[in-house]
Amino acid sequence: MKTLIRNGWLLTLDSDSTVYDKGYVLIEDDRISEIGQDEARQFELGKQADEVLDADGKIVLPGLVNSHTHLFQTFTKGLADDKTLLDWLREEIWPFSLQMEEEDFYLAALIGCIENLKSGATSVVDQHYIHTTKNTSDNVFKAMQKSGIRGNLCRCFADLDYHPDLKEKSSVVMEELNRLYHEWHGLEDKRLTLSVGPLNPWGCTPELFKESAAFAKEHGLKFQVHTAETQAVVERTVAKYGKRNVEFFADLGILDENIQLVHSVWLDDQEIELVKEAGAMVVHCPVANMYLASGVAPVPKFISNNIPVALATDGPGSNNSQDMMSVLKFTACLHKVSTLDSTVLRPEDVLKMAVTQGARVIGRNDLGQLSPGMKADLILVDWKKPHIAPVHKPASALVYNANGNDVDTVLVDGKVVVKAKRSVFVDEEALIEECQNRIKAIRKALGRS
Ligand SMILES: [Zn+2]
Repeated sequence: MKTLIRNGWLLTLDSDSTVYDKGYVLIEDDRISEIGQDEARQFELGKQADEVLDADGKIVLPGLVNSHTHLFQTFTKGLADDKTLLDWLREEIWPFSLQMEEEDFYLAALIGCIENLKSGATSVVDQHYIHTTKNTSDNVFKAMQKSGIRGNLCRCFADLDYHPDLKEKSSVVMEELNRLYHEWHGLEDKRLTLSVGPLNPWGCTPELFKESAAFAKEHGLKFQVHTAETQAVVERTVAKYGKRNVEFFADLGILDENIQLVHSVWLDDQEIELVKEAGAMVVHCPVANMYLASGVAPVPKFISNNIPVALATDGPGSNNSQDMMSVLKFTACLHKVSTLDSTVLRPEDVLKMAVTQGARVIGRNDLGQLSPGMKADLILVDWKKPHIAPVHKPASALVYNANGNDVDTVLVDGKVVVKAKRSVFVDEEALIEECQNRIKAIRKALGRS
């Protein structure tokens, strides 16, 4: 199967940040086989292709990676504003999620995957931590499978200090990791993958941290954990272990190049040094950090220390969307104002955090740029609109002008999964109707009008 995208404004995000005006991308099956801007060649290839997508008026770039979310929270977006992290969890997220039925996790994940795709994320990492029935994780995988997204289920768990109905025995956690690895990891030509996700430093026993980290290494899986999201989170490990979050991980022997530290808002200089020495990476969620007033992660410091930083929305309960395009702008603006330095992050830097470093989060070195041999996960963004045009530089237009609603076409593994702003595989109206009915039923069960 040959697909030609022609006449596009190509933002390759390769090492030279090459841009082609009126360029083309030839895709053979699931990979990019050729890229360029020669007009005669483009015309010739058009005659041979099975499918031709005209990208006139579109910026074409590699798909964004949403490196950390909680898809079940699509059912809780807008449920409760104006709370601190721990109150928001205790009073809102936990009670609501306990009322969700097994099928709800499929619906919530599916509407979340569709939102991710339609706002430019071709890949998503779902740290899934609600296991009220055995198959909630399977239902997340099924939703990823159906939507066409590149999905990583980061199987999340807590065995120590957590809501009693959401806590699990460590033996159950390890059994489930093993089961999910054998049943789902690598399906759909490796489009679906598993990773390992202890919830946070205070939610899991040191033994389970070590055992699950060893499992991840042994099976070639990534390891992702919420880290120093708020000052209260840091105080908990200091009170319990006499150590800050990253010190705690380092002393457990799990701080290495396989670990992804989500948030990392409250790291001191010594911890930043530890992260750097270990070769670990950070996943930055600026909107959630602002929404919950958690603080400002020292991202410019991470970058100047060569610590890789990827971007994410975090769960829709604390965002309240899955729009990775808006995360680009928030990232740039947050760090400019917090450092009082308008040069601190350029649009290309922010895009590479979402694309190149995102590919690293999901362990793929064949994603993250438009060049021959790379996987064909890419997006076409409309720029001929009053809020974007006229365009001087496409990277700037994407970061500062565009939003998720401007994404027109999305390809994953060379297949069109969103066309003319509509999901190819899912009836969106029916899905929205079904989700709204379930929200009403859950609200009723919780005694809320
Ligand atoms: Zn999170």
